[in-house]
Amino acid sequence: MDRENTMLSKELPENLQEQALEYVDSCALPTTWANFTMHAFREPTTGKEHIALTLGDVANGEPVLARIHSECLTGDALFSKRCDCGPQLELAMQKIAAEGRGAILYLRQEGRGIGLLAKVQAYHLQDQGADTVEANQKLGFAADLRNYSLCDPMLKHLGISSVKLMTNNPRKISALEGLQVKVQEQVPLIVPRNPYNERYLDTKATKLGHMLIPEL
Ligand SMILES: [Zn+2]
Repeated sequence: MDRENTMLSKELPENLQEQALEYVDSCALPTTWANFTMHAFREPTTGKEHIALTLGDVANGEPVLARIHSECLTGDALFSKRCDCGPQLELAMQKIAAEGRGAILYLRQEGRGIGLLAKVQAYHLQDQGADTVEANQKLGFAADLRNYSLCDPMLKHLGISSVKLMTNNPRKISALEGLQVKVQEQVPLIVPRNPYNERYLDTKATKLGHMLIPEL
């Protein structure tokens, strides 16, 4: 029972209380590209588990090369070609390894927040012709249910107040700025298109405002 639990909720403003996170523990996570440190967090109200990976000294006040990555089991772990999540995560880890310093917040909000099983249903609707936004809406979900306020207690715990954010998604930048995290720079993460992710990437660009430059 030597595990140190830190409740971070008392540092948060009233309106973010429900996003309080409990820090559980940290360990080494050697990967193909670098030896990261993995930090574990839990939402006390829902029991949902989240992790952060860091490399180097991220708490020295300098802007941190960072990625906020929402879990995508199919893309991150099953090599799915239906989306760009896996290659984006890999590229972010490579860029952090090359810089020798950075952080990845890995948020467990599968399928833009609808959950894994609903994502299978949404993919089924897409197999029948719907795009990613229409499919979520047919199932009764908003186009994007992800909640980035979790980042606030995670970043505070890690001592990060300023980031160079690896993203193509302007919503993430405004979400972080809303949390008083300084986004010093936006670093695009453009990964290759394939016949299976083409329509998904186009929909993200046209309906969800992602800044994706099509390959010509
Ligand atoms: Zn994905």
